[in-house]
Amino acid sequence: MRRIAIVGAGQAGLQLALGLRAAGYEVTVVSARTPEEIRGGRVLSTQLMYGPALALERELGLNLWDEETPPVEGMRISRVEAPGAAAPERAVVAALDEPARSVDQRVKTARWLELLEERGGRVEYRQVAAGELAALAAGHDLTVVASGHGPLGEVFGRDDRHSPYRAARRALACVYVHGARPDPGLPPSYLRMCGFQEAGEFFVLPALTLSGPCHILLWEGRPGGPLDCWDDVPGPGAALERSWQLLRSYAPWEYERCAGAEPADAGAVLSGSLVPVVRHPVAEVAPGSYVLGMADAVVLNDPVTGQGSNNAARCAGRYLSSVLARGERPFDRAWMHETFAGWWEHARHTTAFTNMLLDAPLPEHVQHILAAATEHPELAHRYVNGFADPADYQEWLMDADRAEACLAAVSGRVAG
Ligand SMILES: Cc1cc2nc3c(=O)[nH]c(=O)nc-3n(C[C@H](O)[C@H](O)[C@H](O)COP(=O)(O)OP(=O)(O)OC[C@H]3O[C@@H](n4cnc5c(N)ncnc54)[C@H](O)[C@@H]3O)c2cc1C
Repeated sequence: MRRIAIVGAGQAGLQLALGLRAAGYEVTVVSARTPEEIRGGRVLSTQLMYGPALALERELGLNLWDEETPPVEGMRISRVEAPGAAAPERAVVAALDEPARSVDQRVKTARWLELLEERGGRVEYRQVAAGELAALAAGHDLTVVASGHGPLGEVFGRDDRHSPYRAARRALACVYVHGARPDPGLPPSYLRMCGFQEAGEFFVLPALTLSGPCHILLWEGRPGGPLDCWDDVPGPGAALERSWQLLRSYAPWEYERCAGAEPADAGAVLSGSLVPVVRHPVAEVAPGSYVLGMADAVVLNDPVTGQGSNNAARCAGRYLSSVLARGERPFDRAWMHETFAGWWEHARHTTAFTNMLLDAPLPEHVQHILAAATEHPELAHRYVNGFADPADYQEWLMDADRAEACLAAVSGRVAG
């Protein structure tokens, strides 16, 4: 049976490894951390995953937390005009057609690693250096690099055509809490997002963590602005206190809901930043010997649109089908490029949508759509459900003419 090595035990690497194992492949995953280290470490993401990505996990029987994970059944997206302004009455509010879910990656990847070993996969615990990839590639029929935003991804060259940034576009911080109260005007299962003009964004969403259901508070601060205040890498208590301070000035109505909260555990905090980048998917690690990059290692987006885990799940699904379809033929360079291209055909939409939301001001036609979506439920529904599959935005939101045509159709229907 064919031997496949995967470097990196995150959403992408483990989903692919477990899928390959189920199909009888000999799989070796190299993980920088053991399950105990992952569970005892810091949170890594807010990892909200939508219906299509969850379906891919379900197909492999990897949806182990459906019962205890609070579903995210809709969104309320609002724009706050200025610090101290009243709670915005207008917002884009809609239900998701299928519930989304966020399972703390510490819970998920630690268990998936154990599951892989229980199912006969091999796991080596160490940090792989770029120089070791040649030996891995020589010892396996295929070597996949799924190392997330870590530096190993730099073995893949930057693709300037799709990488407009040289610096981070947001300072990120999140803290997981117990005891946050819902918005009484909304179903408790809704994600809430406030956009603060030039400052950045704040999100609050239900999730499952090590100690049970919780809420995640996520800040996305524009560089140099007032929400870019996490350089000291605070612990969970200090991050929650800073969140309270920010909420008192920026969104006092959210402060009221979070005031009684407490951090979920000693590792329930994350802060930092990343530089969005798209890389070439194939690296030559020795003459004529190649490795294939996957998910964040080669297509890294800012989390402002919450797409990375969804992208990773799609990438794993796509790569799994491509490996299975290859049969006994070699996993050569051309196959690697084709395999990536099949995933990029979808991933490119998430990159385009995410980068559009990162840059201020938004294009005028998008501002018009979002304003109209606060009044027209069908537009709100389409915008909110696009997070589950951003390819749909291509059909209406991303293009000025199509967006205006869509607006005209909605207004015409209302007027008529
Ligand atoms: C603050 C924040 C919020 C986010 N919120 C969302 C969200 O709501 N929804 C969403 O879909 N996405 C979200 N994301 C993005 C999402 O977490 C990532 O895109 C996703 O985890 C990528 O999966 P991956 O498997 O490619 O990489 P990762 O999940 O990062 O996994 C990579 C693994 O490789 C290991 N590794 C790295 N280097 C090496 C090495 N040299 N040797 C061995 N192992 C190595 C790492 O330890 C890690 O376990 C968020 C990200 C952040 C930072």
